[in-house]
Parts: sequence; structure tokens; C-alpha cells
Amino acid sequence: MNDEPTRYSTPPLELPWQPPEEEPEPVLDCPGCVELARVREWARRGGDFTTITDANILLRRHPEGH
Ligand SMILES: [Zn+2]
Repeated sequence: MNDEPTRYSTPPLELPWQPPEEEPEPVLDCPGCVELARVREWARRGGDFTTITDANILLRRHPEGH
């Protein structure tokens, strides 16, 4: 009788927790950035990660213009 549990040749993958990508800081005297930071904050409260990501992308683009 073989009651050995099934063994896999690879060890269980243990993914280290990865911190979320560093979030860009809004440029405070830029109305576009301030608006994006506000949107990002609302999105965070609502758990809307798509909007958070979009806002971060736009915030990073500040030097190129919004
Ligand atoms: Zn800006």
C-alpha cells in the first residue's frame, strides 16, 4: 500500500511579499499633479487599483506634461 503523499520535484514556491511600486509624489505647485493625487487618494479609499495605477502613471509623466 502506497500512502505516500504526492511529491513534487520542485519545492513549494514561496514568493516574498513585494512592496508595491514606489508611488510618485505629486509636484505641489502643479494643479495637474494635485488633482491626480486627489483622485489617487479617492481611488485608494475605494480600493480602485486601476485608477491608482493610472494616476501614478500620469504623476510620473509630470516632467513631460499632463
Ligand atoms: Zn504635474
